[in-house]
Amino acid sequence: MLKLKEEALDKMIKQAKRDYPYETCGLLIGKVNGDERIVLEAFETPNVNPDRKHDRYEIAPKDYMKAEDYAMSKGLEIVGVYHSHPDHPDRPSEFDLKRAFPEFSYIILSVQKGKVVSFRSWELKGEKFEEEKLEVID
Ligand SMILES: [Zn+2]
Repeated sequence: MLKLKEEALDKMIKQAKRDYPYETCGLLIGKVNGDERIVLEAFETPNVNPDRKHDRYEIAPKDYMKAEDYAMSKGLEIVGVYHSHPDHPDRPSEFDLKRAFPEFSYIILSVQKGKVVSFRSWELKGEKFEEEKLEVID
């Protein structure tokens, strides 16, 4: 179960539109409460994939560390990753699956012709992704 602050969602949507037709990405900052993850902020990270930004994203280790430092300074933690799928549905690709960690939420936003049409959150269960319940909060 993922709770997502509306401000963080707005930021992801703006970013996904701005970076179309390339994938945008970032880290979800918040806290874990039992089996619930709460996202309070979206921390933008550059997509450093060298040659396939239209269908791949990559977060540089230094940007990951920056996000981690930022989260810690606020008493929070990294609870997941978000990225966009330009002209593709909001479900994870094989590539996404290969690189996923357990205990993280993965929000994917589908951008069709420059507009964000849907988004969903996924979590790793064993060897595959399952959609997780997502609630937007104020
Ligand atoms: Zn993807």
